[in-house]
Amino acid sequence: MEHNTPLISTIVVGLVLAFLLGLVAQRLRASPLVGYLIAGVIMGPFTPGYVANQNIASELAEIGIILLMFGVGLHFSLKDLLSVRAIAIPGAVVQIAAASAMGMGLGYALGWPLGGGLVFGLALSVASTVVLLRALQDRRLIDSERGRIAVGWLIVEDLAMVLTLVLLPAVAGLLKGEVNGSAGWLDLLQPLALTLGKVTAFVAVMLLVGRRVIPAMLHYVAHTGSRELFRLAVFAISLGVAFGAANLFDVSFALGAFFAGMILSESELSQRAAHETLPLRDAFAVLFFVSVGMLVDPAIVIRDPLPLLITVLIITFGKSVAAFAIVRLFGHPTRTALTISASLAQIGEFSFILVGLGVALGVLPERGRELVLAGAIISIMLNPLMFALLDRFTVADDRDGPKTKQVPGRAAPRTDGHVVLVGHGRVGRHVCKVLRDNGAAVMVIESDPERAARLQEEGVTAFTGNAAAPDMLEAAEIGQARGLLVAIPDAFEGGQIVSKARALNPKLPIIARAHSDEEVAHLRSLGADVVIMGEEEIAKAMITRIG
Ligand code: AMP
Repeated sequence: MEHNTPLISTIVVGLVLAFLLGLVAQRLRASPLVGYLIAGVIMGPFTPGYVANQNIASELAEIGIILLMFGVGLHFSLKDLLSVRAIAIPGAVVQIAAASAMGMGLGYALGWPLGGGLVFGLALSVASTVVLLRALQDRRLIDSERGRIAVGWLIVEDLAMVLTLVLLPAVAGLLKGEVNGSAGWLDLLQPLALTLGKVTAFVAVMLLVGRRVIPAMLHYVAHTGSRELFRLAVFAISLGVAFGAANLFDVSFALGAFFAGMILSESELSQRAAHETLPLRDAFAVLFFVSVGMLVDPAIVIRDPLPLLITVLIITFGKSVAAFAIVRLFGHPTRTALTISASLAQIGEFSFILVGLGVALGVLPERGRELVLAGAIISIMLNPLMFALLDRFTVADDRDGPKTKQVPGRAAPRTDGHVVLVGHGRVGRHVCKVLRDNGAAVMVIESDPERAARLQEEGVTAFTGNAAAPDMLEAAEIGQARGLLVAIPDAFEGGQIVSKARALNPKLPIIARAHSDEEVAHLRSLGADVVIMGEEEIAKAMITRIG
């Protein structure tokens, strides 16, 4: 059957297996990513049973990368990108050099030629776009200063890889000692200049022409009033620009999509555009992890354990230490340095392309490729743990902050416990104000760092982060609270917060927010005592007014 419809069977088996194993992983308190990767291993050629089409899987993964990078671009203005260049450029360059040196060291120990070690090291130095963005999005860090540095750093790595991939064929000759003298250097300079020229041309076309045409087109479509056409326009722009960039300018899909998003970020429609791409983006990101799993032969763990262990240590530990040191050296806080280190402590798609080319050119031994592939899957599985460690540190750090200043003129604080408020947006800010005016002690958990910082300046105890993340509710001392108000619009996320709080404090009165009867039932089933349905309250207020 699958021989007739390889695309359909790859998508369907991939999504179904990923779903089932993701669910199992979640139940076992691991990251669902682990489930997706194992789904890939099961579908891959190294395990018995069904084997999906690897080429199709990696193309599907590429669509995931395009949609993710487009989404990131939508949050990024050119100003943001330029504002982090002072740290992102030297940081990425030094980190690539450090990781390459470590990889070369391992290659040397394994008796590979210098060129093989270099390709191996370079493959260990670039982080995966998907893994990094997923991690930052889960923690709502994309719009924070730390998130911007991490994304800027990623862009520099991406550019470095685009250059490496075009230079590698030319360098391969030099590395193998086949060419010497000036002819060799000329072979190197020509593709370098050509590639840099193409990247510059692409950026210039996007900034001069794309910046005018693309937002204008989107505005035009928005005014037609057709939701379907608007959605289509967003996908046509993101995929079309990425594809055009790759084919006309030899830029990576990821960079092309990032620029398409970035020139839209100045338009008011960007929020809507981002919203439209979400469901597809998530589905394709899952297929990315499945396709990674498919490449890996699990038997390598037995076949080559020590070199694999060292490879994983270079990716997770060696690179992190290098990144941490550079970020601290540039005077950024420890928390920023830790976020960057955790974000980059993994490898993915670029490494696969690089080792594939290295083997094809005869520079890298096959064993090197196997180590990189297995190292990638292990580092991706370990990545959520790195972030869990970071969360622990961050919460401890937040707790230390001077946030409980008493603002003059307020009523004296009540002593019968505090209220924990999740979300300081349209609903939360009114709640917070009234509670404070009444002299109640409030601790706020807010994922938007700027909103949280503003609250802290006003003297409110505020924690930055997703309230559903580990340790956040504990940091807000939920065990001693006299109530929890979940004032965020997303009932699914709200449900996670409610059930965590309920587990931590069985007697706690919990009040949550919903928009439909189903959401009310969902939140109540997870332990909310009262669920306020916004629309119903609006209706009641309207009826009261009309009399
Ligand atoms: P609004 O949509 O205007 O009601 O605002 C909701 C507020 O809650 C925003 O400020 C969000 O940043 C914040 N928020 C949304 N989800 C979470 C979450 N899981 N944890 C903490 N804050 C959140």
